[in-house]
Amino acid sequence: MVRVAEAVARTDTGRQRRGNEDNSLVRSPLFVVADGMGGAQAGEVASQIAVEVFAAGLPPQGSAEEKLAEAVREANRRIHELSRAERERRGMGTTLTAAMLDDTQLAVAHVGDSRGYLFRGGSLTRLTRDHSLVGALVEQGKLTEAEAEEHPQRSIITRALGPEPEVEVDTWSYPVRPGDVLLLCSDGLTSMIREDRIAAVLSSTRNLSAAADRLIDEANAAGGRDNITVVLFELEELDGSANDAQEHRTMVGMPAVAPPSQPSRPDPGARAERRARLARTQGSPVPAEPGRRRNPRWAKPVAALVSVSVVLVLVLGGGYLATRQLYFIGTDARGVMTIYRGLPYELPAGIRLYETFYTSGVSVADVPAARRSSLLSHNLRSQKDASSLMRSIELGQISR
Ligand code: MN
Repeated sequence: MVRVAEAVARTDTGRQRRGNEDNSLVRSPLFVVADGMGGAQAGEVASQIAVEVFAAGLPPQGSAEEKLAEAVREANRRIHELSRAERERRGMGTTLTAAMLDDTQLAVAHVGDSRGYLFRGGSLTRLTRDHSLVGALVEQGKLTEAEAEEHPQRSIITRALGPEPEVEVDTWSYPVRPGDVLLLCSDGLTSMIREDRIAAVLSSTRNLSAAADRLIDEANAAGGRDNITVVLFELEELDGSANDAQEHRTMVGMPAVAPPSQPSRPDPGARAERRARLARTQGSPVPAEPGRRRNPRWAKPVAALVSVSVVLVLVLGGGYLATRQLYFIGTDARGVMTIYRGLPYELPAGIRLYETFYTSGVSVADVPAARRSSLLSHNLRSQKDASSLMRSIELGQISR
């Protein structure tokens, strides 16, 4: 079994556009990038609707690929209906690239010219086929990849969500393994920097966050002609054989850790043993930092992870119930690792958008220091993902 260890999302307007019509969703194990098009902010609306459909949850039936494809078709219907109903929305559309980790497979659904990539062992493999004019010409052998990269019409896409009542969705499944890094991005990245540059950045940065920042910076340095969105996530072994994750690691310069000595199969005594071992090796526990004891830690603005618009729709649009499907991991007032249900926000007047869902038996001091910030970054997760991650934390199966 493979799990998402860490995920980041970054978006940037770029240097030439006035607004940002890209949207993304990070809801481990589900990830989405959508790049909207259409005048008068219609593109922003289209990409936002697409992301909202995924945020609301996938259909229960079918394979991972079928679930993703059905969500894409549903997003297409909604965008198309709105584009017909409102004059200023006419012709709006969006690309969409979605990826979902399912056991040891990554399911990918795709329409348009955003892209998915797998970075493994220092090399970058594209997982999606562009539905673009130049993409078709490359496939017909009429253009080389290099010519396509420079082609003046390279941003013309041949398939999108919104323009037609029905959309054809491409899906794939790829076997994945611990250490793999997945990238979803809008064409604002790939039209500005070459794939070998993307691979070089992923090889040379010390973590996903630094890699995402660097990719955006390089796209801007190359001109930043379009909105740039980058979603990165990294996989690790789920069942405790975290050595694999070390072995396959592709980001370099991560802090080394002692190889975990836990049994690969959890047993009831494992946690106590782990805690005893930690106590021996660490001496006194590291206290949680002052000022962070009262509330779950706001390590990163969640606005960077889920678009603010999605959050506002959920909160203001009577979507309170929808927020009850969302979970995140943090620490409670005593520094104990806790699963919260809801959104990691506190409104003025002290109204919390979250509640305690599960209090673990693990203090934040028992989590490997190198993993604390990623574990406590309040990424929104499914209940299953949050519970599975917390279980690994409790069993001491978190590597690095
Ligand atoms: Mn774009």
